[in-house]
Amino acid sequence: MKLREHEAMKIFGEHGIPVPKGFLIHSPAELGPRMGELGDRFVLKAQVEVGGRGKSGGILVANPSNGARLAEELFKKEIKGVPIREVLAVEYLDIQKEYYASIAIDRSTKQALILFTDQGGVDIEILAKENPDAVRKASLPLLMRDIPPFMLRDLLGSSPKEIGSILNQLFRVFCAKDALLAEINPLVATPHGIFAADAKLIIDDNALSRQGITLNRDLTEREREAEKHGFSYVELNGDIGVIGNGAGLTMATLDLIEYYDGKAANFLDVGGGADQERVMHAVKLVAADPSVKVIVVNLLGGITRCDEVARGIISAGVVQPIIVRLAGTNEAEGRQILDGSGYRMMESMEQAVKAAVEAVQ
Ligand code: GDP
Ligand code: MN
Repeated sequence: MKLREHEAMKIFGEHGIPVPKGFLIHSPAELGPRMGELGDRFVLKAQVEVGGRGKSGGILVANPSNGARLAEELFKKEIKGVPIREVLAVEYLDIQKEYYASIAIDRSTKQALILFTDQGGVDIEILAKENPDAVRKASLPLLMRDIPPFMLRDLLGSSPKEIGSILNQLFRVFCAKDALLAEINPLVATPHGIFAADAKLIIDDNALSRQGITLNRDLTEREREAEKHGFSYVELNGDIGVIGNGAGLTMATLDLIEYYDGKAANFLDVGGGADQERVMHAVKLVAADPSVKVIVVNLLGGITRCDEVARGIISAGVVQPIIVRLAGTNEAEGRQILDGSGYRMMESMEQAVKAAVEAVQ
C-alpha cells in the first residue's frame, strides 16, 4: 500500500531524515490560524496518490498574504481526476540542488537496490534511459544494518557526505517498514542543509498487519470484498470476467483469452472445495465490476462438486451471460442443473473461452 506523502514524511522524520516543518490541513480554514508556523514563504502540497503532482498543479508556493486564497483554490482542484481532501503545508525550501534517492526490492538478487543521482528533480525513468551513467546503483542484503562505507562512496561520488547518513536512515526505514519502495525525489540541498522535499513509501501488502495497518486503501471495494471471502481477485482492463479454481487453471484461462484476442476484466480464484455459497459470492463479485460483459467460469471438480458450482452460478442471478466449463466430480449433475436453467456449458475450456470472446465482440 502506498502511503501518502505526509505519512511517509512523518516516518522519514522519525528516522532522522531531515524533512521540512509543516502540518496537514483538511480544509482551507485550518490554514489561517497556523500560518504563522510556516514563515514568510511556504508550500501547499495536495495529498493525492498520483504521480507528477507538481506538473499537474498540485503544488503551490504561497506566502501569508495569498496563502488563504491559494488553499481555497487547491482544495477545489482535482489532480488527474482525484479530488483533494488533504493538503500538506510545509515551509518553503530554498533549493540549491536536487538529488534523487530510492531503495527498492531487486527481485532478481533478492536484495535492496539503492539508486542515487545528483541529477534529481527530473523523471528518474527518463534520466535512466538518456543518461544511465548518472544513476548510481548498489545492491545490499536486507540483513545488513548499514550501507557499507565503500558502497556509500561509490553511490555518492562527490555529493555531500551528509547524504550518506540520509541514505542509511532511508535504508533503516525501508527495512523497518517492510517497504517495497522508499523514495526521496527530490532530496534537496538548501543553505540550511539537506532535506527530503518529497517522500514516498510503499509498504508490502503482505506486511500490512505487522505494520499495524488494518485497511489497505489501495484496494477497490470489490478487491476488499474478495479479500474478506479469501478469494484471490485481481482487476484488469478488459471486458471478460474470469472465475477459476487454482492459480494454474485461472492463469491458463487468462492465457487462452489472450490467445483468442480477448481481454479479461478481472479474474477470481475461488480456491479449493468451493461450495454453492462461495461460488455465488464469486459470481456476484466478478459481475459487480461494471466493465464485465460476459463471465467465463472454468472450474475443475475435485473436492469441489460440479452440482454445487452449478447451483452457485444460478443462485447468483447476475445479468451478464455466463459461459461455463465444468469437469470432474458430479459433472453430469452439474450439466443437468445448468441446462435446465439456460446456461451454456461447454465441453472444453478452449470452447468456453472462444465463446466468451465471441460474445463480447
Ligand atoms: P511530485 O510532483 O508529486 O513528485 O511532488 P514533489 O514534492 O516532488 O514536488 C515537485 C517539485 O516541486 C519538486 O521537484 C521541486 O522542484 C518543487 N518543490 C516542492 N517543494 C518545494 C520547496 O519547498 N521549494 C522549492 N523551491 N521547490 C519545491
Ligand atoms: Mn517528487
